Amino acid sequence: MSKIVCVLYDDPVDGYPPTYARNSIPEIERYPGGQTVPTPHDIDFVPGHLLGSVSGELGLRPFLEKEGHTLVVTSDKEEPDSVLDRELPDADVVISQPFWPAYLTAERMARAPRLKLAITAGIGSDHVDLDAAMEHGVTVAEITYSNSISVAEHTVMEILALVRNYLPSYQWVLKGGWNIADCVERSYDLEAMNVGIFAAGRIGRAVMRRLKPFGVKLHYSSRHRRTELEEELDLTYHQDIRSMVQVCDVVSIHAPLVPATEELFDDELIGSMKRGSYIVNPARAEIVDRDAIVRALKSGQLAGYAGDVWFPQPPPADHPWRTMPHHGMTPHMSGSSLPAQARYAAGTREILESWLEGRPIRDEYLIVQDGKLVGTGARSYSTENNKK
Ligand code: NDP
Repeated sequence: MSKIVCVLYDDPVDGYPPTYARNSIPEIERYPGGQTVPTPHDIDFVPGHLLGSVSGELGLRPFLEKEGHTLVVTSDKEEPDSVLDRELPDADVVISQPFWPAYLTAERMARAPRLKLAITAGIGSDHVDLDAAMEHGVTVAEITYSNSISVAEHTVMEILALVRNYLPSYQWVLKGGWNIADCVERSYDLEAMNVGIFAAGRIGRAVMRRLKPFGVKLHYSSRHRRTELEEELDLTYHQDIRSMVQVCDVVSIHAPLVPATEELFDDELIGSMKRGSYIVNPARAEIVDRDAIVRALKSGQLAGYAGDVWFPQPPPADHPWRTMPHHGMTPHMSGSSLPAQARYAAGTREILESWLEGRPIRDEYLIVQDGKLVGTGARSYSTENNKK
């Protein structure tokens, strides 16, 4: 029998379960490109319910306990004396989410001799030390595609919110004002702007497809060219990100966090952009230099910055991004909409079913197995990406 430790974000402050705004969510069977949504044998939750917080338990408890396994669910994850740290020594499986990451460091893995499987209930396993996972024989898997479209929608929303000055204008309504001039003094149209997408993966491509009808000129920079997509969306490819950012008004970041992308957006790169550019980053916070962003917003080099990813997560109360000017940051929530939760909860169940029954985990979910990068991991975290 296995012990599964699941680290999830806290319940709503008003209690659990919440009152749902809608009675159901739309059903989808396949993602763009054809990959099927998760296909577990069964689910023990209502799609559209809050599954990602502690009381939601990703809907896993009935299934795991019926099979005799132990499930521990907690939000308490900070070292050195958290519930996670206390449960690790005899944990077989750790489930964590990028939104509330249980950082599985080499030290923690050394304190978890039974650990065999680390599941990311979402996408992006950079909170797991992948080298340590390879060394300790831990399989790492994530629910590829489960929330890619959710993030793409959030990205388009944030681009529009920044460019059109939505959030400050909304604040005037809350303050009882009707200050049109204050609202529009920083309000522009997205139409005809040059928009650059950094990394044409699942999210990057979905963002480009959604932006095309706005009449923007699209650019992209990624490791590999996609000529068919270039023709379909009239894209301009830039082999070097530097040439892309110089010509763009908006840059949207969708690359994984790897040594090659860490702090790529520093003072120099941001300084080479047009004055008054916008950056949206729903990928990972560490791809940008935290303080360079603050400096650029204060100087006017950037007209706005938005995203939902921070470091660390949760960020401290005095994190400078909370108070920097002209930002549209949210907590890390773009990939945790209720439909996304239904998909990554079902995907987590599918991975657990496969693993407990000794069946292979879908290749597209795999990051590390048998001491090496495999599946999606081999593509996203390849050795060429380990070079700065
Ligand atoms: P994909 O793996 O589909 O796409 C990532 C793309 O990044 C790949 O297609 C690859 O391009 C490109 N890439 C990899 N390394 C580099 C590099 N060094 N320079 C330029 N491009 C590179 O991932 P997703 O689109 O699904 O997700 C992207 C990222 O978004 C994730 O890694 C994760 O960190 C983040 N994310 C955030 C979420 C949120 O809630 N905010 C939720 C989900 C993901 P190529 O094919 O050209 O090699």
